[in-house]
Amino acid sequence: MWFDQHVHMEHGPYSPLEYPESWLEQFLAVATSRHVGGLGIVEHGYRFLESAGLLPGEWSQKRCLYPLKGYTAFLDQVRHKYPIAVGLEMDYVPEQEDGIRDYLRQYSWDFVLGSIHFIDDFGLDVSDMKDQYLMRDSEEIWAKYYQYSIKAVTSGLFHAITHPDLPKIYGLAEVPSDVLRPWYRLFVEALADHQVALEINTAGLRRPIKEIYPDPLLLQEAAKAHLRVTLASDAHEPENVGLYFDEAKILARECGIWAITAFTADGIRTISLS
Ligand SMILES: [Zn+2]
Ligand SMILES: [Zn+2]
Repeated sequence: MWFDQHVHMEHGPYSPLEYPESWLEQFLAVATSRHVGGLGIVEHGYRFLESAGLLPGEWSQKRCLYPLKGYTAFLDQVRHKYPIAVGLEMDYVPEQEDGIRDYLRQYSWDFVLGSIHFIDDFGLDVSDMKDQYLMRDSEEIWAKYYQYSIKAVTSGLFHAITHPDLPKIYGLAEVPSDVLRPWYRLFVEALADHQVALEINTAGLRRPIKEIYPDPLLLQEAAKAHLRVTLASDAHEPENVGLYFDEAKILARECGIWAITAFTADGIRTISLS
């Protein structure tokens, strides 16, 4: 059975203070149909009032609307009833590392995912900002992305780094693989040194690039370094839970990865891909 480490419930029919269990059950029903035995539930850290001031730009600031307590109260209600691990997907912002640490301490998470969605105030996957890819230097985008990713790893704040080559999302920041390879190596070295996992995220197949995150070359480096690798759909709706996991398994095996790590409520589990 799979474990889907990265599932958002945020587009559900709920107000932030009233997360209905029936909505969670819809995610779990799809999970069962796709041989996914457990879910890592996350919300974006930027949705909550307490993260205001930690994230760059107007786009995030406008979204810090709800008390974190609404979400954690829901988690407390369900965490022992369902096969879920409770977590948060939090942006890493280098100059806010201490604030992010304090923010994460407000709840006893089973796991925390680290993301780089922003390079300063440029939202890499914010569709309204897509044009910025055309105005910026692609090599500079990737360099900053991996500089921030490496800092996220060394911060010790996260169990796994999500969608670890997000700038490819629209296919607008193409650079030769010999530019990316040194970054992959530095990133993997940091992940190995700090025992942080790398995420295989199938959401890229639902984006314009139509590729799993990350690139096979990065996964090959991960395999050589014996990194922990998690598997995630990054679903925001029930129908995407566990989607394309068979494709992810094929890719992982082609790249030399033979096990998936799951951060569950009962600790770390290993799922063999053989
Ligand atoms: Zn994300
Ligand atoms: Zn996500």
